[in-house]
Amino acid sequence: MNKLSIIVPCYNEEEVVSLFYKETLKEVTAIPDLDYEFIFIDDGSKDHTLDILRLLCCQNENCHYLSLSRNFGKEAAMYAGLKQAVGNYCVIMDADLQHPPKLLSPMYQALSQEGYDCCGGKRMGREGDGTLRGILSRSFYRVIQKLTHMNMSDGDGDFRMMNRTMVDAILQMKEYNRYTKGIFSFVGFETKWLEFQNVQRAAGKTKWNFGSLFSYAFDGILSFSTAPLKLPGILGMILFLISCFMGISALVQQVFFHHSVGSLYLVSGIVIFLSSLQMLMVFILGEYLSKDYLENKKRPIYIVREQN
Ligand code: UDP
Ligand code: MG
Repeated sequence: MNKLSIIVPCYNEEEVVSLFYKETLKEVTAIPDLDYEFIFIDDGSKDHTLDILRLLCCQNENCHYLSLSRNFGKEAAMYAGLKQAVGNYCVIMDADLQHPPKLLSPMYQALSQEGYDCCGGKRMGREGDGTLRGILSRSFYRVIQKLTHMNMSDGDGDFRMMNRTMVDAILQMKEYNRYTKGIFSFVGFETKWLEFQNVQRAAGKTKWNFGSLFSYAFDGILSFSTAPLKLPGILGMILFLISCFMGISALVQQVFFHHSVGSLYLVSGIVIFLSSLQMLMVFILGEYLSKDYLENKKRPIYIVREQN
């Protein structure tokens, strides 16, 4: 029989985690011929989340929890959950009911009957998330798509069901700075998308503020793109062209019009020329650094989807 592992990162979710469990249990037990397990990851909660999880796990032997020694962040919690999961299908869900449990059944259908490796929830709209957060988030995904050439859009979250092959591929990516949305996109596989309407969290507060969202966005770019390391190259080239233009125009004035440019002009030209050389040297360093950076991540060189 197939088994679905439901992975739930929880950080200070005492107000909502029981409700989440009740609603999700109802949906998962309604799917015929499917065994399940809940894997709750208490990500260093400071409220009573862990007490509630202990209680749930006493009541139902299909529930397991893992409590991290401190708050490591959702990315680490998801990795811990995936590592612990034994199901041949895994789904990652937020504890706040923003990921509708009703989608579990069509997601399972897509994987078990329709031949997909992954079925992701695509969030439509951003009700309850604030207008500014929506605008910034959409702009961020536009930038990251351009920089990384990978498929990531604003609505694609971590809410997705995956088969064992895909989960194992994700677990092969052992990098410390994890940006799971990028990892999903990196590993590839056939993905079906199901749209769902965004709703406010059932209770409790979001763990994100503008500072943490900004640093998450920055981490995302740094984890999957070395494009920022090319900036000194672009700047160096521009400065080099400016200094060439200044040099040539000084020469033309001297030779054809017997008019020598002022010393300020000459000094500026030399300074710009030297700066351009420095920038270009920094660019070369950056190129070595970016190669080393990617080597250090020890990402798999290829991922097999199927084999006879
Ligand atoms: N979460 C976590 N560790 C953290 C922050 C969040 O495990 O450091 C969990 C949180 O408990 C929830 C999920 O990640 O289950 C999504 O968090 P949240 O609802 O705050 O994010 P939002 O929906 O606002 O993007
Ligand atoms: Mg949420």
